[in-house]
Amino acid sequence: MKHTIEELKEDVEVTYGCLGNEDDHLPDILEILEKQLPKKLNVEVVKDKGIFSGTFYHCPNCGIQVFNRDWNKYCHECGTPFDWGD
Ligand SMILES: [Zn+2]
Repeated sequence: MKHTIEELKEDVEVTYGCLGNEDDHLPDILEILEKQLPKKLNVEVVKDKGIFSGTFYHCPNCGIQVFNRDWNKYCHECGTPFDWGD
């Protein structure tokens, strides 16, 4: 699986070059591809006077809190795929 925009860009450019499509479609396609790439979650470590602490994850796109890594391959709010960075 491709993981970087650069790699995807190369594929798209090659594919579209072969098909002879106009270049002005490329930004749209890249934008779509970019949205489909897994994104790292925003990590928030909370330490509150030793009473309450924990690590919280937030969607990098919409900021909603994500609770369980096994259940959340995608954001249920905005559909962004998550990269949990194993
Ligand atoms: Zn989201």
